[in-house]
Amino acid sequence: MVKYNISPETMLCDCCYDSHINVPQLDYHICYRNIGLLPEVLKPIIFRRFCFKAMAKNKKHDPAICKEIQQAWKWVLIVCFGYTGYRNARFGRIECHESITAFARDILLDAVKVSEQVGYKVLHGIIDSLWVKANKKNSDPFKLSRMISKKTGIKVDVEGRYKWIVFLPNKQFDVGALNRYYGLFNDGKLKVRGIELRQRNTPDFLRDVQRNILNVLKEANNTKEFYDLVSVAANTILDSGKRVIDSMNELNKLVFKNRISRYVTEYKVNNLVKSALLQLRDLGIQVEPGQYVQYIVTNEHSRNYKNRVCVVESITGDEKIDVDYYLRQIAKCAESLLIPFGYTLENLKNYLLKLKYKEKMYGSILPRVRIKQTCF
Ligand SMILES: [Zn+2]
Repeated sequence: MVKYNISPETMLCDCCYDSHINVPQLDYHICYRNIGLLPEVLKPIIFRRFCFKAMAKNKKHDPAICKEIQQAWKWVLIVCFGYTGYRNARFGRIECHESITAFARDILLDAVKVSEQVGYKVLHGIIDSLWVKANKKNSDPFKLSRMISKKTGIKVDVEGRYKWIVFLPNKQFDVGALNRYYGLFNDGKLKVRGIELRQRNTPDFLRDVQRNILNVLKEANNTKEFYDLVSVAANTILDSGKRVIDSMNELNKLVFKNRISRYVTEYKVNNLVKSALLQLRDLGIQVEPGQYVQYIVTNEHSRNYKNRVCVVESITGDEKIDVDYYLRQIAKCAESLLIPFGYTLENLKNYLLKLKYKEKMYGSILPRVRIKQTCF
């Protein structure tokens, strides 16, 4: 936005029909005589964020505080971008939003080209990030980032080097979640995006299911070791399953938390959330849209809302949970991480059900099909 002077009043201005600033693939020109409001406001913010980013790497300053501040500025910038696409913006103009994304695509494509020209394989790219794999040894990612910065005029940072990374497919109905992956940096830190572990409404115990899987995979130093550990990681769900079958979890770790989008009378489907809302209404508690309901699942398939769930407000500690429901949730969380390797909700769930009915178990859960080349 700063580099190309993108602002509502500079888009398609009347003073510069001859402008050299043209939006890629869109027939828009941008003013080159006057600096727009948005670039003027954003420039010092970008500079400030840049300073805190640099300070975070300098031992004279507290890295944790600098990191927090730079992230706060990052959010301010993200909101500034997002607002240009807001329908009711006072001072908005949709062409701004279109132009920003058009430039962004162009920049990303240029970055891909540069990377490929100097011998990198591009694994994945979205919005402002690129994942590349070096073909040669002795590759220098910092050199590549400098080359991309020079070519695009946009400052590019190296976030880190991964020992391995897994890109997850988008869930069918999860539109907008283009950003689902997990990987292990060289310094041993995991980066996880777009899975249940990161979502606040996931019960603690289900987050543990994913943590257990990732803790096993964390031991892998490269792709080969990763593949060797996948089945060990999948098998950790047996422990989680046993805990559910033997009711070893504290009930508060099993609580689902859902944000309500409408009033109880407006729910057409009799889902678990509606049952929870009806129970709360019986208790005289009115939940407004935007507020949360919290409940454990006691009998998913019951027709009576009083039996299906138990809201947190009514938990006494003697409730029996719906074991099958929770086993299925375990399978679902494991599937999220392991589906690229052929582990599906179905085969994971069936394995857990064998555990429940104490059927003969085989050594490990076997994937249905093994899909190669999803871990790099
Ligand atoms: Zn102009």
